[in-house]
Amino acid sequence: MLFGAFEVKTIIEPFRIKTVEPIRMTTHREREAILRVARFNLFGVHAVDVLIDLLTDSGTSAMSSEQWAAIMRGDESYAGARSFFRLYDRVCEMTGFKEILPTHQGRASERILFDTLCSEGLIVPNNCHFDTTRANVEQSGAQAVDLVIDACKDPASRHPFKGNMDVDRLRALIEKEGRERIPLCMVTITNNSGGGQPVSLENLRSVREVCDEFEIPFFLDACRFAENAYFIKQREPGMSDRSIPEIVRETFDLADGATISAKKDGLVNIGGLLLFRDRDLALQARNNLILTEGFPTYGGLAGRDLDAMAQGFVEIVDEHYLAYRIRSVAYLGEKMVAGGVPIMEPPGGHAVYIDAGRFCPHIPPTQFPGQAVVVGLYRHAGIRAVEIGSVMFGGGEHDAPDMELVRLAIPRRVYTQSHIDYVAEAVVELYENRDSLKGLRIVEEPPALRHFTAAFEEC
Ligand SMILES: *Cc1c(COP(=O)(O)O)cnc(C)c1O
Repeated sequence: MLFGAFEVKTIIEPFRIKTVEPIRMTTHREREAILRVARFNLFGVHAVDVLIDLLTDSGTSAMSSEQWAAIMRGDESYAGARSFFRLYDRVCEMTGFKEILPTHQGRASERILFDTLCSEGLIVPNNCHFDTTRANVEQSGAQAVDLVIDACKDPASRHPFKGNMDVDRLRALIEKEGRERIPLCMVTITNNSGGGQPVSLENLRSVREVCDEFEIPFFLDACRFAENAYFIKQREPGMSDRSIPEIVRETFDLADGATISAKKDGLVNIGGLLLFRDRDLALQARNNLILTEGFPTYGGLAGRDLDAMAQGFVEIVDEHYLAYRIRSVAYLGEKMVAGGVPIMEPPGGHAVYIDAGRFCPHIPPTQFPGQAVVVGLYRHAGIRAVEIGSVMFGGGEHDAPDMELVRLAIPRRVYTQSHIDYVAEAVVELYENRDSLKGLRIVEEPPALRHFTAAFEEC
């Protein structure tokens, strides 16, 4: 990247720090006791006892001074607040959508969308449904089908757009089931469940063509639309000279609507959006919104939250920010690979995924290798990550997942390069001592979503 005539080699954080939040190092002995109290489930560890928290990138962003200023401008009027119109103008300018419903977070947008369009016996295709998306589709009585390309499931494949939808399988599904059973088609950008991998504009255009042919509405799950646009600019032929706002706009122009969790690329701690092209659909959704979230000009949020979101959507399309963001995640991935750690390649936009099956081959899936890495990483270095494998997806009637993964999600604008260096060092050291990692067994679990509250013992 060029700043004037000076060629920058290290991509620095494009901000300086105005407010600090201390983090606390614990001793090895303290962490041992904390793990036992939490019964080896990191969701049970208090945040105060975590040094570097990579549990999620959702709602964990640092807000800017302009966002904090926007918080003070928040208009708390019940109806027609200035804050709503500032958000409306920004989202309309960025996406072209005119029907804009605020919600308290992404899953509320999903629930309202699927309540409006879905019912028993219908099918919703997606590249990969995120877990709340799948749950909300199923809650409506419909069936959620994932149609991502095969490269997504190969951790070693360096396909530039591993989040792409398999368009042939989409067409085959529609021809087999009949278009009247498919109330909408979705694509998730970036593909969170598939490792934060991007979707190309070319792929989105092909999905649009199939949807047009069968007259099926096309919606985006657009939580990370800006990260996706940056990957398009970097990787898609002919895109390098286009601006991020142009690519973002073309992305949204291809869709009939979108759900967005603003806790990701909205750079806020709470908030969501539901967007429509069609006025009648928006009207139905608004009636549901009033019933369950709030009046259509605040949708379950305070006015100040709407203003912070409006400003977040200005800052997120800044190319210097995105260059730093994507680079810092790739940097962590590179350091881990240099240390021999098996990860999913290439790193996605918001997280690095460790391939725990290969990290500790001496631990069988029945003893949760991913959980062993998560516990080991906290014990060794006070870092909190999350297991995405047999703990999260296994149990009961579920099939064992394809891969045993550990996700290190990077909060936006929160950690510096030295924090990331520390994380990479810790992971590499843990890998060098991987023989000491122990498998776990579940001693207590709830009937659903067991990863949040299950209790474990070390084998
Ligand atoms: C986070 C997320 C959601 C749900 O949003 P919440 O704000 O957590 O309710 C939906 N889809 C994707 C792809 C997400 O990453």
